[in-house]
Amino acid sequence: MRDQFQKIKRLSVLGSTGSIGQSTLEVVRQHRDKFQVIGLVAGQNVDLLIEQAREFRPKCVSLSSNKAAEIFLARSPDPHIQVLVGQEGAEKVASLPENDIVVSAITGIQGLKPTLAAIQAGKKIALANKESMVVAGPFLQTQARRAGAEIVPVDSEHSGIYQCLRKERPEDIKKVILTASGGPFFQYSPDQLASVTLEETLRHPRWKMGKKITVDSATMMNKGLELIEARWLFNLSPEQLDVLIHPQSLVHSLVELKDGSLLAQLSPTDMRIPIQYALTAPNREKSSLPSLDLRKIKMLEFYEVDTERFPLINLARQALQEELSFSVALNGANEEVVAAFLRQEINFIDLAPIIFKVMDYHQSRRINNLGDIFEVDHQTRQLTRKIINQWMMKGKRR
Ligand code: MG
Repeated sequence: MRDQFQKIKRLSVLGSTGSIGQSTLEVVRQHRDKFQVIGLVAGQNVDLLIEQAREFRPKCVSLSSNKAAEIFLARSPDPHIQVLVGQEGAEKVASLPENDIVVSAITGIQGLKPTLAAIQAGKKIALANKESMVVAGPFLQTQARRAGAEIVPVDSEHSGIYQCLRKERPEDIKKVILTASGGPFFQYSPDQLASVTLEETLRHPRWKMGKKITVDSATMMNKGLELIEARWLFNLSPEQLDVLIHPQSLVHSLVELKDGSLLAQLSPTDMRIPIQYALTAPNREKSSLPSLDLRKIKMLEFYEVDTERFPLINLARQALQEELSFSVALNGANEEVVAAFLRQEINFIDLAPIIFKVMDYHQSRRINNLGDIFEVDHQTRQLTRKIINQWMMKGKRR
């Protein structure tokens, strides 16, 4: 009995009402005897958080605003649940001493501090918040080594790489190839791209995800961010990283070894698989999903990325070569333009040129600490907003 009890992993989910958060809780639901939810962190979606709290009975929840926290308190399914607020609340949940695993699934640089808090507490981190690795990869890795924290990727491509690399020595890795679905506009001509709508952009052909990452997939900035993420996760050089378009999204990544062997990880296109693996690694648990039937699939296709139509991937490649400040600025500019696009202030076709314009102004600088990261982020966002405003004025005049 005691043995069985000890096998239960206690976890907190940062970003529990988002797409990855909900899928994580579905995995927990499938393995009630293996996992227990201790903490949940959400933004503004109080209704869903209340539902989740009713089902999973966490010890502690955190919401982004006082107002949201008050609504939760008034309708809390259990008066013993501690209710916290804001970034501090998220950090507190991330570093609860009871946590065995922290699922970091807040979108954007907002997830950085809570992720760092979990790392500094020496936890196992199931990392879905790619932006934190993009802007602070070397810092997170240093802190993880210091605190004995283990970072396991949730991103499907990186989960694939992680699985392929489990038994390989770093010196044997020749190349790591991330696959990309190509997004909804993979086949679009430049003319067609010029008139795509927000609605079309949010209709991803393979994955059902949150809005920010869905827009990033359509511009292929998501793959750019993933290149940078892979660099820091697996300590790779820029020359070791490559991208291939693979519209079926079944091969999640490939690793080429120095003897010419190519390892690939395939699985159904469902985030519950990499999430579950991140929770159970290096072990595995059963999944209720149907097996991949390669007889039905028959063909796997791979294509080169067209950087004429999807130029943001070039900026990400450049980021691999530059100081970290370049990645921080690139991420900040991207978060701002995507938010403006979601508010329908700019068109899809404006996203890349605005980011390029912002990056033209970027002055490379050394990043010594987290404060420097937030400073570059803040300045870049201000500049980006200024350029967006100019862009909108010009658009109105036209
Ligand atoms: Mg991915």
